[in-house]
Amino acid sequence: MKLDAKALRYMSTEDFRVLTAIEIGSRNHDIVPATLISQLSHLRSGGINKFITDLIKRKLIASESSSKYVGYKLVYAGYDYLALKTLSKRGSVASVGNQIGVGKESDIFVIAGDNDEQAVLKLHRLGRLSFRNVKNKRDYFRPDQSPSWMYMSRLSAMKEYAFMQVLHEHGFPVPKPIDQNRHCIVMELLDAHPLRQIEKVGEPGKLYSELMDLIVRLAKHGLIHGDFNEFNILVRDDGSPILIDFPQMVSTSHANAEFYFNRDVDCIRTFFKRRFGYESVLYPKFALDANKEFDLDVQVAASGFTKKEQSQLEAFMESEQTEASNAAPHSHDEEDEDLPSDEEIVYADDSEEDERDMDGLGEDDASDSDDSDDDYDIEYDRLGNTIRRKRTC
Ligand code: ADP
Ligand code: MG
Repeated sequence: MKLDAKALRYMSTEDFRVLTAIEIGSRNHDIVPATLISQLSHLRSGGINKFITDLIKRKLIASESSSKYVGYKLVYAGYDYLALKTLSKRGSVASVGNQIGVGKESDIFVIAGDNDEQAVLKLHRLGRLSFRNVKNKRDYFRPDQSPSWMYMSRLSAMKEYAFMQVLHEHGFPVPKPIDQNRHCIVMELLDAHPLRQIEKVGEPGKLYSELMDLIVRLAKHGLIHGDFNEFNILVRDDGSPILIDFPQMVSTSHANAEFYFNRDVDCIRTFFKRRFGYESVLYPKFALDANKEFDLDVQVAASGFTKKEQSQLEAFMESEQTEASNAAPHSHDEEDEDLPSDEEIVYADDSEEDERDMDGLGEDDASDSDDSDDDYDIEYDRLGNTIRRKRTC
């Protein structure tokens, strides 16, 4: 997806107020009626049409009709715009340069901040996998730019940033986190290449043990990466590894911790054998709490990323994995039962909060309340990852 940084320069205050009003209105409306946009933007209803038309032309919003009325919704480009605007106000992003990566569900750009230092902007784009595979699903999976995708992308960015902060503070080899807003993260630009692109290393045994040590060190701190593979490990010229991409991390207290731990270990063993012809009889085995020294999982959980948000994100990601591995359309929607309904994923109706957000340029927070799901016994690991057990009676 293109990121039109130039659009930033040509936006009037009114355009911006209308765009922000649509974002806020989307919390409790699938499509936001013009009257509400007028109310939230404090602009006369007669005057807003011009701004709406302009925003549609610039592909920052789209119009859509329901059975009752015509309304407007934000599309990803508009969401990108709002995030960039906030990040640029804070000085974290002054200009956007080349795209350096297209991840499974992200776009990665080199940017420069107010200090002229280069950094990386990662825009989370959840839903990309499902866009490919899903047709004819119910509303929640509509293969267009529904705000639900944006909400999930925001949760994913918040989670990744929380992990990056805690890991960085504790001296793990991860990028330095710089800023986060909506679905975006700003982090240090690493002078390193993905392990996947590296054909030869001087001492595969050394890198292998550094990576296994990293898996063990994470576990001693209460964490499992969950996607520890050649795509998410970057290697510097001096051969040292750096870990990226954290939205799927789980706590060692998770019911399936041993499975995730072993999968991370196996990924490295398999890759080293295939790519470098390197095999070792030594590899770590999962030992719950045996040598646990820190509770980083608890620290991340305390970072403000709520259990409800965690559980929504997780249900969404699980469903996406299912979709990705089943390219053929399903005959029924059974696996969707775990997903949050549209009511659950929109924000609480709170006009006071709306007011505050207009001033704060849409700094938002989802309301938190406990999940209840009659069909499941729900437990959480220390990070808030959900362990669902279907009730049998
Ligand atoms: P995804 O979640 O979509 O897999 P990643 O965070 O793994 O996204 O990033 C995708 C790619 O972008 C990486 O494989 C790497 O090439 C590049 N990349 C990501 N973060 C950085 C960074 N901080 N510095 C340099 N390159 C990066
Ligand atoms: Mg990745």
